[in-house]
Amino acid sequence: LLNVSRQSAAGADELFGGLLSPGSDRRACLGRYQSPHYYKHSPYAPSRHLLRKLRDYEARHSRCGPGTPPYARSVDHLRSGSSSSTEDAECNYVVWIPYNGLGNRMLSLLSTFLYALLTDRVLLVHSTDDFTGLFCEPFPGTWVLPPDFPVADMSWLGVGSNQSYGNLLDGKKIANDPAKATARSVPPYVYLHLAHDLRRSDRLFYCNDDQLVLAKVNWLLVQNDFYFVPALYDMAEFEAELRRLFPAKESVAHLLGRYLFHPSNSVWGMITRYYHTYMAQAEERIGVQIRMFSWATIPVDDMYSQIMACSRQEHILPEVVDGDAAASSSSHDHGGSKSKAILIASLQADYYDRIKSTYYEHAAKGGDMVGVFQPSHEERQIMGQRTHNQKALAEIYLLSFSDVLLTTGASTFGYMSSSLAGLRPTMLMIPEDGKVPEPPCVRAVSMEPCFHMTPDVECRGKAVNKEELSRHVKECEDVGKGIKWI
Ligand code: GDP
Repeated sequence: LLNVSRQSAAGADELFGGLLSPGSDRRACLGRYQSPHYYKHSPYAPSRHLLRKLRDYEARHSRCGPGTPPYARSVDHLRSGSSSSTEDAECNYVVWIPYNGLGNRMLSLLSTFLYALLTDRVLLVHSTDDFTGLFCEPFPGTWVLPPDFPVADMSWLGVGSNQSYGNLLDGKKIANDPAKATARSVPPYVYLHLAHDLRRSDRLFYCNDDQLVLAKVNWLLVQNDFYFVPALYDMAEFEAELRRLFPAKESVAHLLGRYLFHPSNSVWGMITRYYHTYMAQAEERIGVQIRMFSWATIPVDDMYSQIMACSRQEHILPEVVDGDAAASSSSHDHGGSKSKAILIASLQADYYDRIKSTYYEHAAKGGDMVGVFQPSHEERQIMGQRTHNQKALAEIYLLSFSDVLLTTGASTFGYMSSSLAGLRPTMLMIPEDGKVPEPPCVRAVSMEPCFHMTPDVECRGKAVNKEELSRHVKECEDVGKGIKWI
């Protein structure tokens, strides 16, 4: 199915086949209307059921979002500490709290949005200073949680918080038995700590019975740095609905990413300026994302060898010719040759320098004209800085406008680019014991991101058909204990 609906820029449907609803102010979010012209692949159209679900969601967001009477009433309940159970609450909410790098944030926000769709909740974002200025509002009204929200110190919520689901269970302040949990017995809000340091009882979030209990809680606050969609398929409560929403299993992050994320006008300006200056004229765009994790570093020379070995194996970067052959292939006759742009995203400049020099010093086979470009090299990951995050976002999008992608395995930054691009990337494998891995890279079997942390929890209650499930779940190519959808 991949690539069949490759759209010409001119023919691109500006609302992604109805995925985006018309009618929002174009000037407020230019990328929303323009981005369909930049993507090279749109392999999956949204199902009718997904379109219905999104339109219903938008109506709910308008009805229940900040500034509406139901929102005010719900916040009043929360402030007074009374359990406004879902039986009498008109609107229920899930608040997403940003945590970790931008790729992690986008993937966990996307998963939380899907969770909101499945549980008929309204998604709101606790927008920290470094999260503002990145994205447009995706829904009618606002998705930003107003600053007078009564739960103080949201950014300090963590594994030890009294209101975390795990601690409420351990302290017997909530019962995870759906038959016993009455609407009045649950607290007005529950904090779901699902980040990497979660404990055993926090993991019970991933159980069907616990979902039936949580369904009675008016406000859920979530902190999660994972792509947890694969775990939602594992719950009987959601599984059938997910199948209807996404007949093609690998299309979840692709479709929801294009629906939810639209770079703000300032980031969109960075993206389009760069694209038109360096990439637009090329006949082929090759995106290369190189991430060296602090927990798996190897020398730059070794990493460069790995990239080149991978490129030879998978035929990604244009081949070069040596010596006299170079002179003949760099003739003035460019018949049959192609112009190619290699976009490098990396915190370091080393790989860009080397790859650029390669095509300066050597001719490419077939006389291809190869440009090598890198928008920034920030040297290190900086937490909490808006301009740093804006550059990261711009580069995720520039990568997603590629014809071909080479990313780094285990990187959520790379996952997000591939899903937005609608491409199954080639992924560099992660070095072990400081050595270049063998094979150097693999072709991904799906454009879905990997869920790095399987819930690994024993659940009571209704289970899904594991045999059926196992046909669509695969261990990730790049992360041993992770799972992904194919
Ligand atoms: P992951 O750590 O690779 O899974 O990706 P994250 O996006 O969650 O965290 C890495 C962070 O480091 C990014 O959000 C950026 O802030 C920064 N970063 C990593 N690689 C790049 C890059 O190629 N370009 C830019 N501009 N920033 C990067």
